[in-house]
Amino acid sequence: MKKRMTTSAGNAIADNQNSITAGEYGPVLMQDYQLIEKLAHQNRERIPERVVHAKGSGAFGELEITNDISEYTKSKVFKKGEKTRMLLRFSTVAGEAGAADAERDVRGFALKFYTKEGNWDLVGNNTPVFFIRDPQKFPDFIHTQKRHPQSNLRSNTAAWDFWSLSPESLHQVTILMSDRGIPQSYRHINGYGSHTYSLINENNERFWVKFHFKTKQGIKTLTNEEASKIVANDRESNQRDLFENIEKGNYPQWDFKIQIMTEEQISTFEFNPFDLTKVWPHGDYPLIDVGVLTLNENPKNYFNEIEQASFSPSNIVPGISFSPDKMLQARIFSYPDAHRYRVGTHYESLPVNRPIVDVNTYHTAGSMNYEEKEVTNAYYEPNSFDGAEENRDLLEPDLVINGDANRYDHNKNNDNYAQVKDLFNLMSDYQKEQLFNNIAESMDGVPSEIIDRQLGHFEKVSENYAAGVRAALKI
Ligand code: NDP
Repeated sequence: MKKRMTTSAGNAIADNQNSITAGEYGPVLMQDYQLIEKLAHQNRERIPERVVHAKGSGAFGELEITNDISEYTKSKVFKKGEKTRMLLRFSTVAGEAGAADAERDVRGFALKFYTKEGNWDLVGNNTPVFFIRDPQKFPDFIHTQKRHPQSNLRSNTAAWDFWSLSPESLHQVTILMSDRGIPQSYRHINGYGSHTYSLINENNERFWVKFHFKTKQGIKTLTNEEASKIVANDRESNQRDLFENIEKGNYPQWDFKIQIMTEEQISTFEFNPFDLTKVWPHGDYPLIDVGVLTLNENPKNYFNEIEQASFSPSNIVPGISFSPDKMLQARIFSYPDAHRYRVGTHYESLPVNRPIVDVNTYHTAGSMNYEEKEVTNAYYEPNSFDGAEENRDLLEPDLVINGDANRYDHNKNNDNYAQVKDLFNLMSDYQKEQLFNNIAESMDGVPSEIIDRQLGHFEKVSENYAAGVRAALKI
C-alpha cells in the first residue's frame, strides 16, 4: 500500500492538485492550510549561502593509516591500520552558490573525520599558503573578491589594489595565477591543511605539523581558454566529474602525508613557522607518509549532507591541536560562529555533523534543540549527580609564549619574496608564459598606478617575472 500523504503535522491530505476556492473560478480560501504550508515551506527552502566557499561538492570516504607515526601523536585516528569514515567538501571561494565550477580561484578542501574520539575537522585549501597572515585583513580581502557594492560586478581593480597594497599576498597570488589556478576537476588537486598545527604524543611531547594530501590522479589544470569553453556549456563541470566518477566506482584517492618540526627546530626556523603565507621547504622538512584517503560514497541528499555540512578547525581530538598561527586562531572563532548563524544553534546535532561518539555538554535549550536527552538533576557543572566530567589527563603540555601585547607590523622584517622566487624558479617556461598571460588578463581595466605598484612586487621576486608580465600587458 502507498504511504499516506500528510501535512507536516501528520494530517492526511485529500487533494494535492486543486486549491480550495470560493466557486470554480476562485478566489482561494485562507483555510486551505495545505496550500499555505506548501508556499511557506518553499519560501524557506534555502539557508543563507556561505559568505565564502558557497559553491561546493562533496563525498564521503575513508582515511586509512598505513604508517606508524605514534612517535609524534597519540591520536587514535592516526593508529597504524585505523580506518576512519570521513566527509570531504570541495569548493570555490569567491563565487556564489550558482557560480560556475571552472573558474580561476583557490579550491576549498574541507575534511571531517568521524573519529572514535570525536570529530576532527581539517579545513584546508588546494594551496599550501594564503593571501594574508593577519585575520584583521580577512573581511577586507573577501570584499575585494566579491561584488562591487554599486555595480554588483566583480572588480579586478579591487583585487589588484588590495594585493598590491598587501605584499604578503604575492605567494598565493602567484599560485592562483599559475596553471594550477583552474583545476580540471576536484579529483586533480592536492589538499593542504595550510596552517601549522601541533601533534602531541603519549609522553605529552609536542611536535609541529603540516598536513598534505597529494592527489593520486595527478595534478591536471585548464587554461583560461579551455575553462571558458567548459563554462559556456557546463557550469557544474566539477560537481559532475566528482559525482559521476564515484557513481561509476572510480574512487579518487589522495596520499596523506605530514611534515614535522620539533620544538627545537621551530625556534631556529628562518621564518615565522606559523606564518600562513609561507611553506616549510620539503628539502629541510621532508614529507612523511601516513596513509591514504579514498572517496567512495556520494551523498544521498545534497542539501542535508553537503550544504548543511559544517566544518571547523576548532574540532580537534586528543593528540592533535592548534598553533599560534594568527589566521588559525581567528578561524577557530569564526567558523563555528558562521554555522550557528547559517545553519542554526544546534548545527552539530544534524546527522552529517554529528560525531559517532556520545556528546555530553551542559548547553541547554536553543532553537532546534530536538535531541532527546535524559533529564537528570545534573543539568549544571560541577554537580553531585553523576553528570559528565572533565578529564585533566588531556591537558596539553605548556606552550611557552613571550612578548608584550601590541599590534605588531606583520610585514616588518618579513621576506614576502624569497619563497615566491623558489616557486617561480621551479616553473617551466610554458608555466611562466601562462602565469604572465593569466595575470595580464586579470588586470584588464585596472588603473596603471595599481599595475605599476604590483609590477614593483614582481620585480622583487625576479626581473624576469616583472618583464614577462609587462610583455603580456604590452607595456
Ligand atoms: P620542492 O621542489 O620540494 O616542492 C615544490 C612543490 O611545488 C611541489 O610540491 C609541487 O607540487 C609544487 N608546485 C609545482 N608547481 C606549482 C604551482 N604552479 N603552484 C603551486 N605548487 C606548485 O620545493 P620547496 O618545498 O622548497 O618549495 C618551493 C616552492 O614550491 C614553495 O615556495 C612553494 O611556492 C611551492 N610549494 C611548496 C610546498 C611545500 O609544502 N614545501 C607545497 C606546494 C608548493 P607537486 O609535487 O604536486 O608537483
